[in-house]
Amino acid sequence: MSRVTYVNGRYLPHHLAVVSVEDRGYQFSDGVYEYIAFYHRRMVDDGPHLDRLERSLKELRIAMPMSRRALELVIAETIGLNAREDGGLYLQITRGVAKRDHALPAKPVRPALVATVYPSKLPGAADIAHGARAVTSPDWRWTRRDIKTVSLLGNVLARDVSARAGVRETWMVDDKGFVTEGTSSNAYIVTADGRIITRQADWSILNGITREAVLTLARERQMQVEERPFTPAEAKAATEAFLTSTSANVLPIVELDGAPINGGRPGPVTLKLLSLYQERITRQTGKTFA
Ligand code: PMP
Repeated sequence: MSRVTYVNGRYLPHHLAVVSVEDRGYQFSDGVYEYIAFYHRRMVDDGPHLDRLERSLKELRIAMPMSRRALELVIAETIGLNAREDGGLYLQITRGVAKRDHALPAKPVRPALVATVYPSKLPGAADIAHGARAVTSPDWRWTRRDIKTVSLLGNVLARDVSARAGVRETWMVDDKGFVTEGTSSNAYIVTADGRIITRQADWSILNGITREAVLTLARERQMQVEERPFTPAEAKAATEAFLTSTSANVLPIVELDGAPINGGRPGPVTLKLLSLYQERITRQTGKTFA
């Protein structure tokens, strides 16, 4: 078996792993997910990822499908059964199968759990050296973006704006004109005096696990961090910009809506944060970066 996926109690060849069309995840996007990077089959920050998963479930009043310990065993088994050293572990929990009705099921239903593995999408040395480009678009999402739900239609449509522009990411802008975050990443700028600015983690963004790690690493090195909203105009005039996510780590953003940032080159603060984050991955997994 090449790719093995866990679904509701069974480890199956990926193409046989299916869920019911009556699952509320399919009908209403009534569910949550996590994506955890692993290197040498060891996960990065799995504790905080599973904490966030439990929080997302609690916010939607979906029960954990099994104990945390049992979930950890399913995850370890899924990674173990897949012939992949480095990659991403995708976990999805939906409310489960119930008669289609907007109201939450009156009787308890068994939540559906899927665990599968994807190849790593980490940017290479050339991607980092060149930096990535982004464009802005309105933030069309609902107001509970702090929950890592599979309701990603707003993100998907916003991502299509950058896909059609041929660039890496879309920075979404709220109705007051401030950047919220990327469609699958958090957004940052660096000011001329070296302050790292990123939006505060409230209902308006998903608080990235990478975000929390990078801000902690920055503060430990006495770098100044300011958690507040910023505008696209401020980003275009900034000294540096970057994004963070589990799949991209720390990636320089060198152009926003066609305007170069830092002359279109990755800046020193971004590259410092990337190397600090890579060292953290190395400490946790043994993976080294060239
Ligand atoms: N914001 C959004 C909307 C995301 O989808 C993601 C990635 N899941 C992030 C931020 C980054 O989160 P993390 O660092 O935990 O991958």
